[in-house]
Amino acid sequence: MRIPFNKPALVGNELSYLQDAIRQGHAAGDGAYTKRCHALLEETLGVTKTLLTTSCTHALEMAALLLELQPGDEVIVPSFTFVSTVNAFVLRGVRPVFADIRPDTLNLDEQQLPQLLTARTKAIVPVHYAGVGCEMDVILALAENHGVAVVEDNAHGLFGQYRGRNLGTFGCLATQSFHETKNFSCGEGGALLINDPRLVERAEILREKGTNRSRFFRGQVDKYTWVDVGSSYLPSDLLAAYLFAQLEARTLIQAKRRQVWERYDAQLRLWAAEHGIGTPFIPAHCQQPFHMYYLLLPSLEMRQQLIAHLKARGILSVFHYQPLHLSDMGRRYGGQPGDCPVTERISDQLLRLPFYYDLSEAEQELVIAAIKEFAPVAKSR
Ligand SMILES: *Cc1c(COP(=O)(O)O)cnc(C)c1O
Repeated sequence: MRIPFNKPALVGNELSYLQDAIRQGHAAGDGAYTKRCHALLEETLGVTKTLLTTSCTHALEMAALLLELQPGDEVIVPSFTFVSTVNAFVLRGVRPVFADIRPDTLNLDEQQLPQLLTARTKAIVPVHYAGVGCEMDVILALAENHGVAVVEDNAHGLFGQYRGRNLGTFGCLATQSFHETKNFSCGEGGALLINDPRLVERAEILREKGTNRSRFFRGQVDKYTWVDVGSSYLPSDLLAAYLFAQLEARTLIQAKRRQVWERYDAQLRLWAAEHGIGTPFIPAHCQQPFHMYYLLLPSLEMRQQLIAHLKARGILSVFHYQPLHLSDMGRRYGGQPGDCPVTERISDQLLRLPFYYDLSEAEQELVIAAIKEFAPVAKSR
């Protein structure tokens, strides 16, 4: 492919920090670079506590453990999301209750929550799709009324804001991904953001194989031992070194991504509207972190044609999120066609354009020109 869909960013200090981490001789988790990442995220976001994890998937698993969810409990999730948003809860025997999405932001439709909340509901998991904030005012009010927890899957949304407040600071817990397809990456990685101070101590224990090792290292106990269930959710400090270089360069990374997003938008929005093609909607009260640019084609057939058209020109575009309620697993929980009509439609229509830190203006012009060449084909059908 001449133009891939994604290329992980390399912004400067990744290799020198990695070298330094190796030389320091602390390659296991919770070394100096992990601490730097924690401090940076806590300070810039204003969260009580951050813990780097091996992935966003694992941070979500930690959230399900921290909420002490039991078989028979229900968690409300959007059908239009990555499997991990749901799997983490299903692993605890929880029944996923699928909500549809809003047709404008493609976020969990908060208007559906009143019908979906039951006496068994224990949590709502909003996913800030493309880093555009879900309607957190409504979601938080409903959650509070019903005494249920909110866990934000903020894999797309680091440094995005809703009504001037950072995404990831609304739920008692929130999760980040540092997978190579996200704005900031170390290959594979994630973080659990903890906004409820009561959950901090147990989160440290779960992440350290069920031991009170973190308290031991802080000198708060004189030996460390097995105190709870747990697993190994902490990444090597080598990965934290890679990640820290990227987080430090966040202004640069986000400025570049903003340029890419705005160039697509300036050149495609009007053209798309004229051809019945949708483009991202960003409400005025949401500040997006420029995670992706997508088109919504009029039909599945046209979407597949555009993918093939771009591929023939060496450009890789991708679609994503098959409705989870219609997946093999989703059907086991009773998912039926028609349950989430917006999700079912959007999943056929959505196309993500190449989007990465290094995408040059010349490459982007090629993508845009190739898309615009597609118009006559779309129109003649
Ligand atoms: C990428 C992603 C995840 C999973 O992230 P990993 O770090 O790969 O586990 C979860 N939820 C959403 C919405 C994602 O986009």
